[in-house]
Amino acid sequence: MNFAALTDPFVDYPLLQERVLSVLQALPEEVQRDFVEDPRFGTAIDNYEPGKGWTLLMPMPGPPGEASRRVVLRPKLEVAPEAFTKYIIAHEFAHAFLRNGGWGEITDVEEAADALAASWGFHKPPPAR
Ligand SMILES: [Zn+2]
Repeated sequence: MNFAALTDPFVDYPLLQERVLSVLQALPEEVQRDFVEDPRFGTAIDNYEPGKGWTLLMPMPGPPGEASRRVVLRPKLEVAPEAFTKYIIAHEFAHAFLRNGGWGEITDVEEAADALAASWGFHKPPPAR
């Protein structure tokens, strides 16, 4: 599958770009297709508010219930530890795949995103000490 449209936004951040690609390649084919075949799905780098959080999810125009399919990543993920960065990327892709909803019996959207990301092999790293 061709992920160029989803990795191009990170061209100025080669390490982050490589990490986004490696997460995309690890996703189940069903999820890859959902992203690649949806013209409303996209990724972006956010440069506007350095130091504020790791990601944000932007609402995109579209029919009701189909918004928020854009994953925006912060430049500082370029220099964050690899396992943490990949977990963050997978967590955000999980939100996008779940349309910011729950997963199966998990109704909490954050727990759902963590559980789905973990099912793809990207576990939440233990908190830094
Ligand atoms: Zn989240």
